[in-house]
Amino acid sequence: MSEILVLVEQVDGAVKKVTLELLTLARSLGTPAAVWAGPGITDDAKARLAEYGAEKIYVAGSDDVVDYVVAPKAELLAKLVADTSPAAVLVAATAEGKEVAGRLAVKTDSGVITDAVGLSEGFVADQSIFGGGVNVHSKVSKGTPIVAVRPNSTAPEAAAASGTVEEVSLSLSEGARAARIVDRVKQEKGARPELTEAAIVVSGGRGVGSADNFAIIEGLADALGAAVGASRAATDAGWYPHQFQVGQTGKTVSPQLYIAAGISGAIQHRAGMQTAKTIIAINKDPEAPIFELADYGVVGDLHQVVPQLTEEIKKRK
Ligand SMILES: Cc1cc2nc3c(=O)[nH]c(=O)nc-3n(C[C@H](O)[C@H](O)[C@H](O)COP(=O)(O)OP(=O)(O)OC[C@H]3O[C@@H](n4cnc5c(N)ncnc54)[C@H](O)[C@@H]3O)c2cc1C
Repeated sequence: MSEILVLVEQVDGAVKKVTLELLTLARSLGTPAAVWAGPGITDDAKARLAEYGAEKIYVAGSDDVVDYVVAPKAELLAKLVADTSPAAVLVAATAEGKEVAGRLAVKTDSGVITDAVGLSEGFVADQSIFGGGVNVHSKVSKGTPIVAVRPNSTAPEAAAASGTVEEVSLSLSEGARAARIVDRVKQEKGARPELTEAAIVVSGGRGVGSADNFAIIEGLADALGAAVGASRAATDAGWYPHQFQVGQTGKTVSPQLYIAAGISGAIQHRAGMQTAKTIIAINKDPEAPIFELADYGVVGDLHQVVPQLTEEIKKRK
């Protein structure tokens, strides 16, 4: 079977969950080959990639690959596409992943699909478009299919492979060296998972009522090991930081479970969350549009429902 290249996402040498998802997806369509961009690959990382099905691990370990903004990753993938003629290239549909995908498409004269939430035989991607109003199946018709897949689209499943390491040397073009990273500041990270990658997201909206009341939402999120999200009404009111806004002008999430508390379900909010596998809405208005979308709904005051739910979950742990 032909190779499918998977660009590895990692933090401090630890492989991110989305990469394990992509390897799982790649395995259903061909032979996964992980692509590690930059120095710092550890034995643990190699073992993890092999555990999830990477037959080969291409390692471009030079500092250059990570010293310049995204362009080197696109050049690395373009070189591998030219050298190995893979059946497809998969990247995570993160901001960086999508930019790499776009640049790679230009370099290889190929088609690109972004924000896929599924991928099946023949590299047919599932996408939710027009603000989430329409689901389409799309396929690249030119060159090597390049697909950016949203985190949480596939459940990662281990299936051991050989994980043979192959070093790749890359000489960057002048263009790829145009924007150099001069400093890196580590983001303070709380104990909660990253919003766009979390398997469970608990979001609060205007119905939460105040910044202090967001403690109720955080309490439920922590009981579930979830990330916290917010509607724009809540972030605009200053109740929760803007980086946690979910929706058309915020983050797009695709978790296994999305709990919307005190959120009406405006189209712009839906655009960022409606590919969640299961949606639970808690709203005091039985006519709220979010109930049209929800798999389960609770009509009630979130200030009563959410703390009770949190207590019940804690009891079961
Ligand atoms: C160009 C553009 C881009 C936008 N981008 C985004 C975006 O990215 N994300 C986003 O979220 N919005 C976005 N919006 C805004 C969007 O249109 C809505 O205004 C916003 O989503 C509403 O947020 P909300 O549901 O929290 O508030 P509301 O619509 O006011 O709904 C609050 C809900 O809480 C319920 N409620 C109130 N009190 C309680 C209680 N005690 N218990 C239970 N339920 C209660 C109410 O019944 C109501 O349904 C955008 C708008 C525009 C024009």
